[in-house]
Amino acid sequence: MKSALRAAVVGAAGRMGQTIIALANSESVEVVSKLDQGDQIASAGADVLIDFSQSDATNAVCEAGLKTNTPLVIGTTGHSVEQRKAIESAAKKLPIVFASNFSVGVNALFWLTEQAARIFGDSFDLEIVEMHHRLKKDAPSGTARTLAEILKRERKIAQLRYGREGMVGERGSSEIGIHAVRGGDVVGEHSVIFAGNGERVELTHRAASRETFARGALRAAHWVIGKEPGLYDMRDVLGLR
Ligand code: NAD
Repeated sequence: MKSALRAAVVGAAGRMGQTIIALANSESVEVVSKLDQGDQIASAGADVLIDFSQSDATNAVCEAGLKTNTPLVIGTTGHSVEQRKAIESAAKKLPIVFASNFSVGVNALFWLTEQAARIFGDSFDLEIVEMHHRLKKDAPSGTARTLAEILKRERKIAQLRYGREGMVGERGSSEIGIHAVRGGDVVGEHSVIFAGNGERVELTHRAASRETFARGALRAAHWVIGKEPGLYDMRDVLGLR
């Protein structure tokens, strides 16, 4: 039985914040502070600060954690290079779980993508397609970016192609296509397509509920307590390294 953990939640009025708050008790987490736009972001009185808001809150989230030496769980996506640097810098002093996707299934997809890229080698073309609800603000999704990072690393390809339009010419072998589809109330879907001559493999994850992300974030909140300073992700939490 896990002991109750006190959490401050940033983005508390949002879709993810509300889901985390609704599930917290069942995951042995007590939400002691609900913070949203206009609030002073602070972590006093909390064992962990959980952030699912917008990337412009990142600096304040990191500063709050540093001020009280409180570990962070960051699920927010769409960060600029500078905002990512702020997280990396805070991780020198704090343990931080920063994950573009907290679902177990998507982290399995990350692992499968890595394995498939190794098996298929250079002769398969790589494309990523993601779909989310019409209210999502950033594109492509943080999860699609993580999938692209995995493929770039495995195939040593640097070029990402965000959609195609007009006379773009034949597809080269040194690119990874990324396509963001938006509409309706889709919680989150990601496909990685490996297209070869005469065959094609598609790995797809479909999230039907935000609960999967919220439960993962609450699990990460328990896991991060007492860890050494550093930047971790959900694969560390799940022991998939
Ligand atoms: P949302 O728009 O429903 O909620 C965001 C909330 O953050 C809103 O209530 C908004 O008022 C608040 N907010 C915005 N700026 C703020 C600030 N500066 N300070 C405090 N609060 C602020 O969005 P959502 O669907 O709940 O998603 C939130 C974030 O989490 C997005 O970046 C999304 O991409 C990400 N997300 C991550 C995962 C994951 O598993 N890592 C899963 C789903 C969503």
